[in-house]
Amino acid sequence: MIERTLSIIKPDAVSKNVIGDIIRRFEQAGLKIVGIQMRHLTKKEAEGFYYVHRERPFFNSLATFMTSGPVVIMVLEGEGAIAKNRALMGATDPKKADKGTIRADLADSIEANAVHGSDSPASAAFEIPFFFSQLDLVR
Ligand code: AMP
Repeated sequence: MIERTLSIIKPDAVSKNVIGDIIRRFEQAGLKIVGIQMRHLTKKEAEGFYYVHRERPFFNSLATFMTSGPVVIMVLEGEGAIAKNRALMGATDPKKADKGTIRADLADSIEANAVHGSDSPASAAFEIPFFFSQLDLVR
């Protein structure tokens, strides 16, 4: 099934100049970028995006980290895009991520872990319209 998923290149990866490295992995895996923007999130935006995690102990720190520098926000489209993107990213904790994944290669810690990807169709359905209107996405 052709799906869409939300991807964020987080502030740690943007500051390391590895935007191109990460996008190349998506493209080589057959995922198409159908929307892309770069922005420096406000605390309110980061908290709104991570609303599902509001009760977690790391919520405040995560929202602060996500506002520490600019991010690249993309909508990726392709066959099984949600699972494919998660496989490319690797486990949340880079120490546990498989060799060759984005997080194993480029992430520093469980918080500064280089990328975000929607974890389910329901998450993608919340996350994509959080940042993109229909008109921002190519058809
Ligand atoms: P997810 O919605 O699965 O991307 O999770 C949100 C993000 O929270 C992860 O990508 C990490 O950056 C962060 N996170 C998850 N677990 C922890 C943790 N135990 N400590 C700090 N940050 C975490």
